[in-house]
Order: sequence, then structure tokens, then C-alpha cells
Amino acid sequence: MAELLNREHALAILYDLALTIGSEVTVAPLLTRTVQRLMYHTGFPVGIILADEGKSIEGEWGVLRLQTAIGDYALARRQGEWLRLPTALTEGPATLGEAPELLAALGARKPRQSYLRLPVEGFGKVLLLGDRLPATDLHLAELFAPLMARLATTIKLCRSYEKEVQHRLERMAYYDALTELPNALLFSDTVRQTLIGARRVNAWLAVVYLDIDDFRQFNNRFGQNMGDRLLAAVAHRLEKHLRSGEMAAHLMGDDFALLLPNLNGWESVETRVAEVLQLDREPFVIGGQTVQVTASMGVAVHPVDADDADSLMRHAQIAMHQAKEEARGRFRFFDAEHDRRTSERRSLVGKVENALVQGELRLYYQPKVDLFSGQVVGFEALLRWFDPARGMVPPGEFLPAVEDSELIVRIGEWVMREALRQAVAWRKGGLNTTVSVNIAGRHLQLPDFVERVRQALRDVPEATPDCLDIEILESTILSDFAHVRQVIEECGEIGIGFALDDFGTGYSSLAYLGQLPAATVKIDQSFVRNMFERREDQTIIEAIVQIAEVFGRQVVAEGVESSDHGILLVSMGCRVAQGFGIGRPMPAENVSEWTKSFRIPADWFGWQDTNWHPSLYNLFRARHAHRVWYEELVGAVKRHEPVTVPVNPHECRLGQWLDSCVELGYDHPIFKELGATHEHLHSLIDTLEARLAKGDRAAIQAIFGEFEAVSARILTLIDDMIRIESAKHPLKGKNSVECRVVEEGAPTVSLQEP
Ligand code: C2E
Ligand code: MG
Ligand code: MG
Repeated sequence: MAELLNREHALAILYDLALTIGSEVTVAPLLTRTVQRLMYHTGFPVGIILADEGKSIEGEWGVLRLQTAIGDYALARRQGEWLRLPTALTEGPATLGEAPELLAALGARKPRQSYLRLPVEGFGKVLLLGDRLPATDLHLAELFAPLMARLATTIKLCRSYEKEVQHRLERMAYYDALTELPNALLFSDTVRQTLIGARRVNAWLAVVYLDIDDFRQFNNRFGQNMGDRLLAAVAHRLEKHLRSGEMAAHLMGDDFALLLPNLNGWESVETRVAEVLQLDREPFVIGGQTVQVTASMGVAVHPVDADDADSLMRHAQIAMHQAKEEARGRFRFFDAEHDRRTSERRSLVGKVENALVQGELRLYYQPKVDLFSGQVVGFEALLRWFDPARGMVPPGEFLPAVEDSELIVRIGEWVMREALRQAVAWRKGGLNTTVSVNIAGRHLQLPDFVERVRQALRDVPEATPDCLDIEILESTILSDFAHVRQVIEECGEIGIGFALDDFGTGYSSLAYLGQLPAATVKIDQSFVRNMFERREDQTIIEAIVQIAEVFGRQVVAEGVESSDHGILLVSMGCRVAQGFGIGRPMPAENVSEWTKSFRIPADWFGWQDTNWHPSLYNLFRARHAHRVWYEELVGAVKRHEPVTVPVNPHECRLGQWLDSCVELGYDHPIFKELGATHEHLHSLIDTLEARLAKGDRAAIQAIFGEFEAVSARILTLIDDMIRIESAKHPLKGKNSVECRVVEEGAPTVSLQEP
């Protein structure tokens, strides 16, 4: 005989329910448990909860969801299913007679004689099914009504509490407490979800990775509390401008992310990103202070850059780092090519670091020579990496990768000491010379750079400061002019010289020259290399030489590859030069020997008395053009390669120059001989090729000999013309002869009679 439910039981149930609210439960088990207790106390073996979602159809049948059923296996199976029940069973007064009909509708196996229908306000009905009515002194309705009324409130409370708990948990898991923005987890989940939709409708979406510039400095300066408030303010501003479907998230530290969906191509991406970018233009007011901050941003776009959330995030972050590298407050789009290069670069940094540790780095030394006196004035230390796998690697292939990392400083420190040690070693061997080292911008910009130089000098005790020079690039100067100036001054006090390397390649070279106490400027080799082909480059060199003279700076020309370069530089008053035409970078052990045997090529001096003026330079150019033409032609023939230089005497540069002079009526005898000799040289090309084809060695030798002699004669004739012009002897011809060198952009040359 089942126990009867009395007031105490009912109260016990309510007490249990109250306790339940204190823990985190969902409503369905709460209802179920209550029904279980009701059944226990009343002796009803089967309980059904019919949720309140039923709506009446076809008049007397209602569709109801059977939320839970307990006690009968047949009913239990139907949990959660939709049922169609006679409306009379769920509404209206309960009568025992309805029980069999209900059971039949539910498909219960055993017939039940009695049932009790208990409405729970707002949540449906509880049906208790039993063989007979429970014996109780109280009227059933009296007993259950208050209980059921309380159950409804309890469930409501429980529901809201449950929501609150869920909300709290969600916030903890998905939101960031400081900024109240979604966190990284929710962000990437949302990107993932949004991507599914975007793929379906071929929409574009952008992920923006945003990092506040110099946030650490801000924290250091204003304190962490202000830092936190700044983050919250940034978050607030980002969120305020979001459009529907967009999301701003706080990832960590000072990193934020934005999801910009519903885009339809590059144009809309760019427009929206530009709008978002405007957000950090206005200053923030925090704790009464006005703070201007910028952010660097990287943008990755679906479907262009990636098709999954993780890659989009990663790519946006990479793009952000690129943006930061360029300048503060910028944004960049990700592109895959750049990504590949960056990852290669990262692995290269590791290898170079290893090379430094393993002693695979070495310095080669390239001489700098005074072209007037022939004296070797110093050596530039140039880094080489002897990679066991690749052999010798030039600095251009590995230094750019490490230039932005701490490693460049370690390398520079090593270079300074190594160069100093080498200078000491040479001095002991009888060679007193200066070594210049190249120092990267990042290194020079360290606040304690001068102290580091002093330390290097202390570490190599026998070294004296005057044996060290430091070469810096123009770009380094511009980024922190005041500091660089101070470094140069302080190093100058110690006795260490400075040179501005690759001079002329920057925009404000000349403007800065007067303000920097650097003793030397090194004319960038691109000007030197092209000075025969580009008249402007020669003019730039002339200008640099003159301005350096005004400011009392020494000039070194880099990239002197041939005698012609040397002669032309000397002619422009450029005294010191460096280049393959003088000496290539060499290992330290070859330096003394090389220095002893070095002589300036004799022909460089033959020109010292020349009275150079613009028209002579053009003659000299024609001379150089011929020399280059000759060397290329002979080289190709000897290598059995096709001849690419003009074979026709009127198409090579010297030929064109001669033709233009003839046109102008220039008829000096030497000039005439030059024309004839030039024609003769070209006519020999056919013979040369024919003999080569036959393979007759003696004949080949003979024709090469003749070819060389005729070419040398051409150079001599040009030299004679230059000397005549230089000495201002009148050249016969018209009163004023204009000779145009037929080459693009070449200015007019006039060989004028005095
Ligand atoms: P740089 O300081 O302007 O050095 C001159 C470069 O021009 C050297 O290249 C040298 O071999 C090359 N060169 C010299 N004469 C000629 C010539 O007549 N024709 C041609 N075509 N090239 C010539 P290298 O050794 O490959 O060095 C390239 C650059 O790498 C250097 O330019 C310098 O900026 C940097 N570098 C070299 N060593 C170091 C170093 O120890 N530290 C740092 N930070 N940079 C270095
Ligand atoms: Mg240099
Ligand atoms: Mg240079």
C-alpha cells in the first residue's frame, strides 16, 4: 500500500525544490523529480508531464508534447514526443473514467483505473496514473493545489536562475572581463560560423587584427590602471561603430580583432576597413587626460587569403606585423607571397644565429685607395658567411633577414671586435691601417651605443680608436637624427671616424650633410657604375664631390670597376675610391701582400694634365663605349656564343657618334683616321668569325692579334683627340662644330674652337 501524501510530504517536496534552485540545474529534471516525489507519496505508479505547447486542432484533439514519463516503460519510451490527446483529458475537470481513454491514446500497456490531472501554471499538466485513488483525508485538489502553484513559481525562478547561471558561464567562457568584448574563443567560433554562411552565398568577409602601437610604453608611463582603462575605451569605441553581423573581440593584451562580414569584393572590403580605420583618429580621454593612440592593423580576406577561421586570423596577424614594421598607425592586407617570404626569413634568422655561434661568419676586407697618391688608405670589413652546406654566402643574402632582429646587434658587436683584432694583428705585422665596419640602424640607435663601442675597445686592449671607422646608412640617420648626431660626436671625441654609406640614395642627403659631423661620404656605387651610361649620374657625383668639399668632408667613390671609372673619377676630383677595379674584398691573410704589391694602373695617371670640360667627357664616353663593345664582342666570339653587340659600324655607339660628327662637317685628320679605323675594325668581324668556324688555330691567332691592334689604335686616336681638345688647340673644321652623341637623353657636345 502506497504511502499517502500529506501536508508534510508536500512541504518536503517544496523544500527540496527550494534547495534545487540553489544549485545549477535545468528545469526539466526539476519537474521530473517533483513528479517522482508526487508518485512516491501518492502511490500513483505512472506520471506524465504534458508540456503546455499543445494547440487545439480538429476540435476535440490537442497536440501536446510529452515531456517526461516515469514509472512505465511503455510510456517512458515516448518521452519528448508529440501526442494527440482528447482535449477533454488535458482541459476540463478530471474524471476517473477518462483514464482508460488516455491510456489507450498513450499506448500504455496496463489499464489504469484512476488518474490525477495537475496543472502547473505556465508549464503544462502533470498527469498521475494509478490503479486507484490514493486514500487521503484531504481532498486531493486541496492537497495538491498549493503545491502545484508553488511549483510554477519555483520553476520560473529556477528558469531565470538557470539562465543567469548559463549567461554567467557563457560570459566567463566567451567574454573578456576587462573590455566586456567577446574573447578569442567566441571570435573564432563566430568567424567559423559566419564563414559557413559566407561560403553558401559567395560573400566575402574580412578579419582585421588590430594591435595598439606602443602600448607597453603607455603602460610604463601612465601605469597599468590607465592601460586597462585605455583598452576598455578602445573596446567601447570599436563596439560602438559595429554594424549588424560585425563583431569586435579582445584577444589578449593590446590585441583586438574585428569580423567584417557581408562584403562583396575588394572595393567593399577596402571601404569598410577604411571606415574602421577612422576609429582611432580621435584622441581618448581617460582619467581626465587626453591620449592619442594609433593602432597597426592587418587584414585577411575570405575567399582570397584563406578559407578557414584559423588561417584568416593567422594571416591577419601576419599582415598586422608587416604594417607595424613599416610604420605605426598603418594597415596592410595579407598576401600569400609575403607570408611565404616571412616564414623563410624566420628560418633564416635561426640559421644565421647558429652561424654566428658556430663561428661560420668571417670578415673580408676591401681596400680603399687614394687615386692621386696611390696610397692604400684603409679597408672596409665586409661580412661573409661560410655555410658548410652552401659555401660562401654574401651579406645581401642573409643580413636583410636579421636586420630587424636583436641578432643584428650581436653580429655588429662581433664585427667590431673582429675588425679591431684584425687591425691589431696587421699592425703587429707592419701594416698600419684603418678598418671600417658597417653598423646597422637598429644597433646604432641603441641608447648605449657609444658605451658599447668603448666596451669593444676595452675588449681588444691593444686596439686604438683611430684604427676604427663606422659606416652607417642614410636611412639610419633619418629615423633618429638627433641621436645619430650625438653618437657621431661622442665617437669623434673618442677618435672614431664615421662615414655615410651609400650616399646619394636617400632623399635629403645633401640637406643633412652639413649638420652631421661625419668625416666621410661614400658615393653609392649605383652612380659610379652608371656614370658612363647616364649623364645625370655623373652630374650627381660632381655635385656630391663639390658639396663635400664645401663642408670639408672626404669623398670615397664605391664600385670602381674599371680604369675608365677611375680616370673619370679622378677627373672629377674624387680622390679616394673602392671597387673591384682596384681590389676585391679578400680574406685578412691576403691583405698585407696585396697592399705591398698594389700600384695604381699607369693609364689612370696619363690624364692628370687633362683640361676636362663637358665636351671632353663626351669623347671619353665614346671611348668607354668602344671599350665595352670590344670586350663584349671578343668575349662572345671566344666563348662561341652569339654576338649580341652591333656588328654594323653605324650601329655601335662609337659609330653613331662618328656619324653625327661627320654630318656636322667635322673633318679633323685624326677624326678621319678614326672613322676609317673604325670601319676597318668592323670589317674584320666577318673574317674573324669565318676563321673561327674553320678552326685554323694559327689563322685565328693572327686575326685576333689584328683585331686587338686595330681596337687599341681606335683608343689611341680618341686619346689624341682628347689631348688636342684639352690643350685647346683648334680642331680644323667649321668655326663651331656641334657633335651630338646619338644616345638617348645625351646632351649636346660642342667642340668649339677657341
Ligand atoms: P656596402 O657597405 O656599401 O659595401 C660595399 C659592397 O659593394 C660590398 O658588397 C662590396 O663587395 C661591393 N662592391 C665593392 N666594390 C664593388 C664593385 O666594384 N662592383 C660591385 N658590383 N660591387 C662592389 P657586399 O660585401 O656584398 O656587402 C653588401 C652590403 O652588405 C654592404 O654594402 C653593407 O651594407 C652590408 N654589409 C656588409 N658587411 C656588413 C656588416 O658586417 N654589417 C652590416 N650591418 N652590414 C654589412
Ligand atoms: Mg659600407
Ligand atoms: Mg656602400
